[in-house]
Amino acid sequence: MHYELMLPHQIRKAIAQNWPVALPLGVLEYHGEHMAVGMDTLAVIKALELFEKERDIVILPPFYYGAASYAVAPPEGTGSVQVGGNQLAPFGEELFYSLLRIGFRNIHAIIHHQTENFAAGMPTDLAFKTAGRQAIFRFLEKQRGEGWWGSKDMADYYAGHAAGENFFNWVQVHPLMPAAMNGKYPFDHAGIGETSLMLALCPEAVDAARFADNTAWYTASAKDASAELGHKGVAMIMDHLRATLRSG
Ligand SMILES: [Zn+2]
Repeated sequence: MHYELMLPHQIRKAIAQNWPVALPLGVLEYHGEHMAVGMDTLAVIKALELFEKERDIVILPPFYYGAASYAVAPPEGTGSVQVGGNQLAPFGEELFYSLLRIGFRNIHAIIHHQTENFAAGMPTDLAFKTAGRQAIFRFLEKQRGEGWWGSKDMADYYAGHAAGENFFNWVQVHPLMPAAMNGKYPFDHAGIGETSLMLALCPEAVDAARFADNTAWYTASAKDASAELGHKGVAMIMDHLRATLRSG
């Protein structure tokens, strides 16, 4: 369900059943002359909306204002919006802390932007990872008081950990396309891979009549994009979401 449309009794049910709560996390960035600037974030939103057809999930309103950077193009007349990681982390902490206060314990930010080497991290995902950790520590200290970890009640912490309990799993950040897709689906910026994803998920974000206006190296393959290829990528993304976003 889209969070903004939920009634309190539905929110309480989602909490009681520990539904995954997903934040589409992304940027607004120049994606060539043929594709919409919201591509990265739209891919996450549309994939989550597809996923919702098979599983109970809360989809939060998307956050589009990540660190696009000006690596691809300067912003003048191209549309890239840059908010730095140092500004994002405090926002993310407040957001996650608030979601923990509501009662959610199964929160996942999903991002498709600069995620080709996700383990190392990039400014937007690193900021939201930091934000999640900070929010969890703050929440536990408020709820249980300082010294919560050192208290007798926590003597089974490592045993619980081994059994899969982990407070720090309450907030997680994941790439939309996992490392397992490397070599199976083209990862690019505004090339055949991303353009095909949009043709499959959000065709109104692509204007084929503009392919010829592209001059950049990274858009050279875009004209070979197809919805058919995009659907192959979407199927892999759905498998990844099924493994990542679980209730209970
Ligand atoms: Zn992109």
